[in-house]
Amino acid sequence: MTKHEMPNKPPHGANAPQPVRTLREWLDHLAAHQRLAVIKPNTDLKFEVAAYAKRLDGKRATLFPKPSGHAIPVVSGLISDRGWMADAMGVEPAEVLPRFLEASLNPIPSQEVKSAPAQEVVHRDKIDLAKILPLPTHNEHDYGPYISAGLMIVRNPKTGKQNVSIHRCQLAGPNRLGVLLLPRHTHMFFELAEKENQPLDAAIVVGVDPLTLLCSQAIAPMDFDELEIAGALQGRPLPVVKCVNSEIRVPAEAEIVIEGKILPKIREPEGPFGEFPQYYGPRANSHVMEINAVTHRKDAIFHTIVGGGLEHQLLGAIPKEATLIANLRRNFPNVVDVHLAPGGVMRFHLYVKLRKRQEGEAKNVIMGAFAASFDLKHVIVVDEDVDIHNPTEVEWAVATRFQADRDLLIVPNSQNSKLDPSAVKGVGAKMGIDATKPLAADEMVFKRIHVPGEEAIDVAEVIKRDTKTDWKGALK
Ligand code: MN
Repeated sequence: MTKHEMPNKPPHGANAPQPVRTLREWLDHLAAHQRLAVIKPNTDLKFEVAAYAKRLDGKRATLFPKPSGHAIPVVSGLISDRGWMADAMGVEPAEVLPRFLEASLNPIPSQEVKSAPAQEVVHRDKIDLAKILPLPTHNEHDYGPYISAGLMIVRNPKTGKQNVSIHRCQLAGPNRLGVLLLPRHTHMFFELAEKENQPLDAAIVVGVDPLTLLCSQAIAPMDFDELEIAGALQGRPLPVVKCVNSEIRVPAEAEIVIEGKILPKIREPEGPFGEFPQYYGPRANSHVMEINAVTHRKDAIFHTIVGGGLEHQLLGAIPKEATLIANLRRNFPNVVDVHLAPGGVMRFHLYVKLRKRQEGEAKNVIMGAFAASFDLKHVIVVDEDVDIHNPTEVEWAVATRFQADRDLLIVPNSQNSKLDPSAVKGVGAKMGIDATKPLAADEMVFKRIHVPGEEAIDVAEVIKRDTKTDWKGALK
């Protein structure tokens, strides 16, 4: 056992198939696979950190030593590829959704520990967040520095059950954050407290492993502590520790914990801030959190997520896909797979692979998908021979198997995302495209052309990285 008495400390070598359990283990893994770029020291927290992170999105995670001279480094882009999340889970990419579903259905309760790395250093008096933490400003028109990768943990004042979610948090004063709470579980718990004119204790946890980050986005029922999904994904009870100023239990191996209270009857302007659709979320009155403690590791690392990038999109998409596939299969067991496409910011465009058995079935699947998630705007259903992770393949199916007068479904004036700027206050149209081939078609009409033996050729092997090709010599 280590000095902090963590249960079941795992071995996690560079190539080991175990799930990842801490941010540090994950950084080791990224570094060992040429997926971590260490940027120059003293990178500016205003714009420059985000500029590097954004340009390297999808290629490398980024680590910034001494950003703007700050002692605490910043990291970004922890997961910018679906395959990386598979590695973090210790599974093959095709197993990411089934594994996440399985963990959601078989949560493992957390295990409390008495001392924790996350509390090696404790600040309680005269909190000045910008002094303690390296808070970056991302986009041109963002109001200022934000905490964008913090897991907000709160407790239901009636039941004591915890909720975990991510909210954008704007620096609004030395010990004050503007937090955007949308009407979900955290907001419900806050309303229960506010009705009694009480503040709601909250903790914001920054710097966790990718699986704990992912669990915060699970679509779970109220009073379901999402940290228990992280435990299931990691294959152990997640070690948690009591906050220094409240009853909230936070991941003990986290880098940084910001403790405070969301104030009743107080709303202050917050925003704009660059959001997932790659537009600004507007400035509006949001909730206010007053900070009363910050705890962190001695050599803490601060995580930031640049809005609209792949890290932001994937963390939301994987739990949504898992929920959608489970939902759809209740009525349509022949739904093979679903994919929230990157071109639809992994929220608005759903591709569905269907083993069609009945004419008209694709349209029912489209309606089922719209009913399951209000965020969905366009749904495309394709046959089993189409790779839904390849947008060009899906477009090919639309080009060759879809007729707009027959296969298009439009639902006007329905609930859409409020962050879709083309919708009016979140009301807009939905469109479904049935790009499946008719069951009764003559076999040769929709038979895809195929060269015998094409699959067996190893393209990487053929494309040698020689700069000079001696084609004349080869012909002698
Ligand atoms: Mn919840």
